[in-house]
Amino acid sequence: MQKFYPDYYKKFKCIANQCPDSCCQGWDVVVDEKSELFYNDVKGEFGDKLRKVTVTDEDGDRIFTLNNMRCPFWNKDELCDIYINLGEENLCETCKKFPRITMDYESFTEHTLSLACPEAAKLILNEDFIIPEKNYNLNNVSYNRENMDKLLNLRTEAQKIIINKDLPFRERLKQLLKYFGGKSNFSKRNIKFIFDIHERLEFINPEYKNIIKKASDYNQSDKYDEIYTRLAVYYLYRYFLNAVDGSDMLDTIKKFFCAYIITASIASAKENPDVIRIIQNYSKEVEHSYDNNRTLEFFFENDDNFSIDNLISLLEK
Ligand code: SF4
Repeated sequence: MQKFYPDYYKKFKCIANQCPDSCCQGWDVVVDEKSELFYNDVKGEFGDKLRKVTVTDEDGDRIFTLNNMRCPFWNKDELCDIYINLGEENLCETCKKFPRITMDYESFTEHTLSLACPEAAKLILNEDFIIPEKNYNLNNVSYNRENMDKLLNLRTEAQKIIINKDLPFRERLKQLLKYFGGKSNFSKRNIKFIFDIHERLEFINPEYKNIIKKASDYNQSDKYDEIYTRLAVYYLYRYFLNAVDGSDMLDTIKKFFCAYIITASIASAKENPDVIRIIQNYSKEVEHSYDNNRTLEFFFENDDNFSIDNLISLLEK
């Protein structure tokens, strides 16, 4: 099995109670079967609590019920009671792994960190990472090998365009859209629809809708080209090969486009923005929300505003 890890992967270390936006906040924790069996045997008051707060959600997953948007085991010192009482080795798989992510393509795996974790976001967005060109092993896979081969080549070409620092980031993004068949015969069009659609999404932080609304009055800051270059490479690496299942490969580009427009506008609306935290928040609210992703994909498919030609026109000055 070929495995690929970016350099930043091994540098990650959780900062626990120093974290400005813990993963124990706002998210359901899915408990795997093996951990639940172990928790079922824990004695005493702590065992009773483990069993009391584990419920089945609407998707049939076993989860810990949140208490005021907090994991019930995240204590007042902002440390984990399961870790303290049962040891790191007995955290459930979700907590043991996060923010480590494995993209499994059967004959090879690629690994990354989740942008929704503030410490991981710093590593991903502060250092350059280039997806290497390799001879990927595509033997004995259940998907279409030619499709994967094509996607791997397209990903390499897309990355070459996006990391070409001779051009401003916005120009590179236009070139990328043209590479995927877009034309630029149109004058600048109104970008408001991207904000309107985002205002219809569901957010953990109720304030996030207002943050987006306010940002819609601003243009995207072009001061952070290096960060957005790394963000674009992250999206290509994390999502582009998913299209091997027959889904639209342009979804990756369109999701990145949305992330760029929204977060770069939020940055412009602030005096001294922490762009990495802005991107991390977007990742937690949108990129990592199953429902919000489905909503965006629905609009990508059904709203002509998301045509590649139109997206190019939105980037005209
Ligand atoms: S979000 Fe990241 S740094 Fe913060 S508590 Fe979770 S794993 Fe640790």
